[in-house]
Amino acid sequence: MPCKSCGAVNQSKFTGEMAIHIPGLKNIDKPVVWVFPELIVCLDCGTTEFVVPEAELRQLATGDATAEG
Ligand SMILES: [Zn+2]
Repeated sequence: MPCKSCGAVNQSKFTGEMAIHIPGLKNIDKPVVWVFPELIVCLDCGTTEFVVPEAELRQLATGDATAEG
């Protein structure tokens, strides 16, 4: 599958860990949302794709990183 950004067919899969912060000063005390996605990295331009899992997606949607599934 070609890169959506540059069109190159030079992508590799990696695993990653990422702390997603909810922006804004009022959210400064909110915990970060950790995700451990599979990354599809374009080795030509660096564009990276990943999917946030459903549980973490819900946390981002509600803005409450302490919410349970
Ligand atoms: Zn690319």
